[in-house]
Amino acid sequence: MRISVFGLGYVGCVSAACLASMGHEVIGVDVNPVKVDLVNDGRAPVVEERIGELVAEVVRTGALRATGDVREAIRGSEVSLVCVGTPSAPNGSLSTSYLERVTEEIGAALAERGGRHTVVYRSTMLPGTCLNLLVPILEKHVGGTAGVDFGVAVNPEFLREGTSVRDFFDPPKTVIGELDPASGDPLLTLYEGLPGEVFRVPIPTAEAIKYADNAFHGLKVGFANELGAVCQALGVDSHQVMDVFLADRKLNISPAYLRPGFAFGGSCLPKDLRSLVHAAQRADVSVPILAHVLPSNSAHLQRAVELVERTGRRRVGLFGLSFKPGTDDLRESPLVELAERLFGKGYDLRIYDANVSLSRLLGANREYIETRLPHLAQLLADSVDEVLEHAEVYLVGTRDPAVLARLPHGSGPLIDLIRLPDADARRAEPGYVGLAW
Ligand code: NAD
Repeated sequence: MRISVFGLGYVGCVSAACLASMGHEVIGVDVNPVKVDLVNDGRAPVVEERIGELVAEVVRTGALRATGDVREAIRGSEVSLVCVGTPSAPNGSLSTSYLERVTEEIGAALAERGGRHTVVYRSTMLPGTCLNLLVPILEKHVGGTAGVDFGVAVNPEFLREGTSVRDFFDPPKTVIGELDPASGDPLLTLYEGLPGEVFRVPIPTAEAIKYADNAFHGLKVGFANELGAVCQALGVDSHQVMDVFLADRKLNISPAYLRPGFAFGGSCLPKDLRSLVHAAQRADVSVPILAHVLPSNSAHLQRAVELVERTGRRRVGLFGLSFKPGTDDLRESPLVELAERLFGKGYDLRIYDANVSLSRLLGANREYIETRLPHLAQLLADSVDEVLEHAEVYLVGTRDPAVLARLPHGSGPLIDLIRLPDADARRAEPGYVGLAW
């Protein structure tokens, strides 16, 4: 393919050189003439493992050249990859000024070019930036419609500086945010032969995935650092702890616990976090991330209360009360806390949880309910029907098939508190409210 790459920094230079080495014909564009000259001299404008040899090689074979002329680049290519910087503004917000400027320039050049061209953004930008800010700029210049007269896609880059060439050829994943399939198709040709799974998603999803990755990386670093600090203060070898932690591929390093849903609870996580933070404080170790995990959890719980408030309905049905599906354990259950908050606000609540009812019948948790939750005991229903007949809004915090099969369709707002396998299907239903979307 013939490609132009806008911005010859870390992302642009590596993308340009690697794509050229894969057999594509690449023109690099930069506003900085020094970078343009360096590339044309066969020298890389960034310092990275293997990038020097790669640029020298692809410039020698004629697969890569650079220019400051946007029109020339657009005329000679079918796809543009935009790799300009998106730094922080002084107040911490995302600066889109380079993106806007390069989009103005590409739009003006596209207006003079016949035939199909696809503009692909690789720069990191907040969800909505492409469709709400950049596409209107392109349409204004071209005098046409995105998806009809030209293609638009967002293709975030996941390379790590220092190993960027290696990461380019062995990406953790390829994300194609596409306006329509015709906008995303050229990227399949572009990256043909590279390993890793390809995800074709709507443009805002692609924009958000990059933030999910980076926020999680930050969280993980903070988590490991805080844990390391506590271990050190308590005389424990933190590296040994993390070696064993990371060896656990079943629970720790897996999608487990990483699905958006409801707040966590139970008799372990909250207690253990509290005691860890407490131990850190006693040892005079500051752990802001760990200290904010429980408040974050509580804020998430409050979001569910607000969702109910927003429906404007007063008669509420809650399916599930135990701390997670498949148990009758009520200790530190976030659903108990949710029920208490709603009850405290005067909502007319009915609760159904088959495991809790069975356990109560058997006597296993009777004492716990009577002594700790007498205010909720009177709200417990004996059947799904009892709740359905009573409620105008339904909160679903269970995977009990007997409940899921009976859930009303379109009769009142339905709020998911756990991520259910069929949640996506339900999203299309009138009245469905997802907590974590
Ligand atoms: P960079 O600052 O190294 O490079 C940006 C280049 O764009 C510069 O050479 C600049 O001169 C050029 N430029 C600015 N305006 C231009 C215009 N109108 N026309 C042509 N060129 C123009 O930035 P980077 O580190 O390569 O990052 C680029 C984007 O990719 C950012 O959004 C960043 O968040 C994202 N990203 C970076 C990395 C990384 O490791 N650096 C990884 C993934 C994603």
